[in-house]
Amino acid sequence: MVEAVEVRKRYHGTDVLRGVKTSVAAGRVLCIIGPSGSGKSTFLRCINHLEPIDGGQLLVDGEPMGYERRGDRLYEVGARKVSRQRSEIGMVFQHFELFAHMTALENVSLAPRLVRGRDRGRVEHDAHELLASVGLADKARAYPSQLSGGQQQRVAIARAMAMHPKLMLFDEPTSALDPELVGEVLGVIRRLADSGMTMVIVTHEMDFARQIGDEVAMFDEGRIIEQGPAEQVLGSPTQARTQAFLERSA
Ligand code: ADP
Ligand code: MG
Repeated sequence: MVEAVEVRKRYHGTDVLRGVKTSVAAGRVLCIIGPSGSGKSTFLRCINHLEPIDGGQLLVDGEPMGYERRGDRLYEVGARKVSRQRSEIGMVFQHFELFAHMTALENVSLAPRLVRGRDRGRVEHDAHELLASVGLADKARAYPSQLSGGQQQRVAIARAMAMHPKLMLFDEPTSALDPELVGEVLGVIRRLADSGMTMVIVTHEMDFARQIGDEVAMFDEGRIIEQGPAEQVLGSPTQARTQAFLERSA
């Protein structure tokens, strides 16, 4: 579902991704860990082409994001095609980023109505079901300011699911939450994993990564320095930097 080969990204002459290589098979969950500033968020943003890459290759479901093949050459595609590619990838951010002036239901309904142009009744029916699936059936008419952080993040997950994505990306989905609200959000993500959704999850929750991650990748200075089964990377890492990082996070 995701294939990254020597992915490079530079900001103002500084190398932020220095040859990232990884892959995620359909139905699998990859958890990404690593120190602040190591390029984890940048990598997620490259996967859905919120950031164009400066080198290497990034394929989602076999398609190069932001490009299309004609013959054996790659051509950059226009905004409309990128937006179609991106609509197949759901993204959930640390700070929810819900639309403050819209209810939960409107937040979840917006993208299917705009991008897919589907009729209001069907979209809202779907949105109600999605809100129910994240435990918020009774909050459809609430505005973000009337919801707890955990509830807002569950709306954000429902919103990302509304386009029926084939891939979900999570960037530290629980790090802005009070500790007592972390569990309800992790529970929703766990159910998504159980349903077979392919996911890439940047997280500081090591226990969660161990339970949910088929594999764990350790980022350091713009590269993946170690990747393997969650149990192995978190339990007996081969790299000294991974070991030191895990000791600091314990
Ligand atoms: P992480 O998510 O692992 O904490 P990031 O991907 O956010 O790391 O950032 C990696 C590096 O890239 C950091 O040094 C950060 O300052 C830099 N960076 C991230 N986004 C931008 C940007 N839009 N412009 C310039 N530098 C950026
Ligand atoms: Mg980050």
